[in-house]
Amino acid sequence: MVADVIVIGGGPAGATISRILAEKDVEVQLFEKKKTIGLPVRCGELLPHPSEMRRLFPKAKDAEKLIEPPQNTLANITEYTELIDSMGNKIKSRFKSNIVFRDKYDQALVERAMDAGAIIKCDSPVISVSGNGSVHVKHMGTIKQVKARVIVGADGPRSILTEGVRRKNYEFAICFTTIMDNVNVDADTVQMYFGKEYAPGAYAWIIPKGDHIANVGLGIRKRFTNNLKIKKYFRKFVKEHPTASNLLDGGRIISSSSKLVPIEGPFSDTATRRGNMICIGDAGGFVMPHVGAGIPSALLTGRIGAEAILKHLRGESELSNFERLWRKEIGNRMKNSLRIRKFTDSLLLNGSISSFFNERAQQYFDHLIRCEFPVSLRLFNFYLNLKNKVKSLS
Ligand SMILES: Cc1cc2nc3c(=O)[nH]c(=O)nc-3n(C[C@H](O)[C@H](O)[C@H](O)COP(=O)(O)OP(=O)(O)OC[C@H]3O[C@@H](n4cnc5c(N)ncnc54)[C@H](O)[C@@H]3O)c2cc1C
Repeated sequence: MVADVIVIGGGPAGATISRILAEKDVEVQLFEKKKTIGLPVRCGELLPHPSEMRRLFPKAKDAEKLIEPPQNTLANITEYTELIDSMGNKIKSRFKSNIVFRDKYDQALVERAMDAGAIIKCDSPVISVSGNGSVHVKHMGTIKQVKARVIVGADGPRSILTEGVRRKNYEFAICFTTIMDNVNVDADTVQMYFGKEYAPGAYAWIIPKGDHIANVGLGIRKRFTNNLKIKKYFRKFVKEHPTASNLLDGGRIISSSSKLVPIEGPFSDTATRRGNMICIGDAGGFVMPHVGAGIPSALLTGRIGAEAILKHLRGESELSNFERLWRKEIGNRMKNSLRIRKFTDSLLLNGSISSFFNERAQQYFDHLIRCEFPVSLRLFNFYLNLKNKVKSLS
């Protein structure tokens, strides 16, 4: 079997690149290891509203169009995001979001790719990839070799293409998420909770889906805790947090799951442009590190990857042009997001997170949530780093 392009993974990144290529009459085969696309749900299910997407990625082409959820996948629209500390103090910002049913969302994106002409094969894990442009796929107990001119890794954070290439100490957060019903939450507001007692190094969330249903979860980081039993943190958050415990009291968990999230930005360029292969979405590390959100960048790198492949197949440019294209459209925002994550790390490490929250967070929240890192904060960050260095020397 030979295809123009093989795509490994049927998440938002893989579905998007397959659809765009198939629309341009490129022969695409997508292999997905799951039997059913989108299940289990391992996501907070939040997409920035198209009106916010433009501000998040001001240089990205088609950003608003890509982030619009397909029909029948929308659960709720929220107008606000609230940041809450471990004492229950709050600040609020107007940030509009679409909350989706992630399983339906992934399925709808894959259906669009199929309608455009891509061949989709579920229950078909890719078990190896070789440098000559072929992959081995397992289906119903049989292993087949499939060849292609280009191979796309869209297979999530532990991509088969980046294993062994990725920097060894690249950091991942561990995230746990549940869908809960019978909760008493404000359907208009997404809540993000921080504090080392509940979500060391990351945050916990309550994302309302309407009808007293919410996506409730949290992330933790090894650097900030020796105790990696994430379910223990989750139980503590649900039962003991002064604000969350009231909202979630009587709530019932319908489903739960956990997964890793890459939080140091795109992997090194070797990983994203090896020979005839590119990695997009989580497989390339394209997640906004300061919030752990990766659907927008999965969609965008799907689109940018398709552009690079089309030019390559027409003989107009090398496939490595992908690197230049994503840097031009989303590179700055990826950098900003990592800077912001490092800045909040500094606040957590030197214990000044509470004073920042009380004195300055309201002033900066609107910027930080939109991945903007104003000069005054950069200066403050510089000062904090200096202070941390002096502290570690003394
Ligand atoms: C708990 C949690 C909450 C999150 N909440 C949000 C949120 O609210 N908003 C947001 O924007 N982001 C969120 N994220 C991040 C987001 O889910 C990812 O960034 C996004 O799913 C990336 O899309 P993707 O297509 O790159 O990868 P994925 O969605 O991970 O898809 C990869 C696909 O590849 C398949 N696959 C893997 N290996 C193989 C193989 N060898 N062969 C064939 N198929 C394979 C997998 O089964 C999967 O279907 C969250 C992540 C977690 C863990």
